[in-house]
Amino acid sequence: MLTAKEALRLLHRGEVSSRELTQEVLKQIERTEPAVHAFLTVVAEQALAEAEQADKHLAQARRDGDEIPPLLGLPVAVKDVLITKGIRTTAGSRILENFVPPFDATSVRRVKEAGAVIVGKTNTDEFAMGSSTENSAFGVTHNPWDLERVPGGSSGGSAAAVAARMVPVALGTDTGGSVRQPAAFCGVTGLKTTYGRISRYGLIAYGSSLDTVGVLSQDAADAALFLNIMAGRDPLDATSVDAPIPPAELRARDDLRGLKIGVPREYFGGGIQPEVESAVRAALEVFADMGAEITEISLPHTEYAVPVYYLIAPAEASANLARFDGIRYGPRVPADSMWDVFRRTRGRLFGAEVKRRIMLGTYALSAGYYDAYYGKAQKVRTLIKRDFETAFEKVDLIAAPVAPSTAFRIGEHTNDPLAMYLEDVFTLPANLAGVPGVSFPVGFDRLGLPIGMQLMGAHFQEHLILEVVHTYQQATDWHRHQPDPLGDDEE
Ligand code: GLN
Repeated sequence: MLTAKEALRLLHRGEVSSRELTQEVLKQIERTEPAVHAFLTVVAEQALAEAEQADKHLAQARRDGDEIPPLLGLPVAVKDVLITKGIRTTAGSRILENFVPPFDATSVRRVKEAGAVIVGKTNTDEFAMGSSTENSAFGVTHNPWDLERVPGGSSGGSAAAVAARMVPVALGTDTGGSVRQPAAFCGVTGLKTTYGRISRYGLIAYGSSLDTVGVLSQDAADAALFLNIMAGRDPLDATSVDAPIPPAELRARDDLRGLKIGVPREYFGGGIQPEVESAVRAALEVFADMGAEITEISLPHTEYAVPVYYLIAPAEASANLARFDGIRYGPRVPADSMWDVFRRTRGRLFGAEVKRRIMLGTYALSAGYYDAYYGKAQKVRTLIKRDFETAFEKVDLIAAPVAPSTAFRIGEHTNDPLAMYLEDVFTLPANLAGVPGVSFPVGFDRLGLPIGMQLMGAHFQEHLILEVVHTYQQATDWHRHQPDPLGDDEE
């Protein structure tokens, strides 16, 4: 499978048609889906019709010398927590099983306006709550590198779809790591944007102060292209920011002289798989060889990220999920009274993890406990944010592992929610601080499972991070390795 940029170049030159490209994508989905299950919905007919429209548009633009919309004719997939007009959107939940939204998320709308063809919706943990897609109501996604392992989550479907080369690019969301961690587990590149960089309008809300839209792609160059298209102020999201939009193109640097990369000591040490640490350290060597200055730094409040996040995110979720009551969206479990309709619909159609979080969040917000839990967590969140501010006075970027281990086995953590939460220790701080981060492949463990590393930057520094990752990806080829989920090594 081509990268998005490669595909667009061929499309623009007329060397391939959108129809051909979309057919190729659908064929690859058909072959691989039975093993991987990355998708909840595939809209083959609609995608082919749109591809034909795109081909007409392309032909006309070429004839008349008009400007070609940047994504015209490119097939993409969208995580099923981003609302898509006319395409079923479930958030991985039974409670939205038959919900067909009447509008597009702003991120989706912008990608469509740029000419992209939506081919389907990817699997996710229910309401993006999870780190493995095992919380999806519609079955787990299998990691294309080892079908017995999870792809990570919650954007596991998007990561697996890109890794298995079903689509060149997929949109995801990251509230506590949901773009970066599956990117790491599946050996793809994942961009988590600055909070407010891309409109959240139409992102089914989980933790509203943490939710961000992101991109999963084969490389940093494609992430930059999509960031450029989706970024920007949106009157429909009051927290979206009117900051200068980063350019769509990345320039590989000749060297990294003058760049300071901080390595937080709290992110290494106990509990991390030795192969993950050594791959990250090896990548740091590459950066050092290119002239970057690597220094040890401290983010002293890191150890509180897990408890703080698992108070704030469920608290916000408990409020956000109140709207799913069987009246407005999705299926309804009938009953005699209104209250019983609410109770039964929510009782029967929310999964166990969602209910757990609603209870945790409601408890943390309740009178008498608010100050001790939610209020306290907000204060510690400020300290975590300050850790980053202090660090970015000294360094340009922060380097860290994405997850303590490579992809774990399906079922390995399902009986122990706490163990699952602890997996998020390296990704949660960026969300609590609102800063951007990119996860990218830096090696494999001895089982052949991909290892990811993340670079985090100060607010709105996506372009700097992506440029550095791009420079790394010009010098190395970890991001070009492909899994062989069907064991036929056809490519
Ligand atoms: N794994 C984290 C959680 O379960 C993060 C999920 C996310 O980023 N959406 O909340």
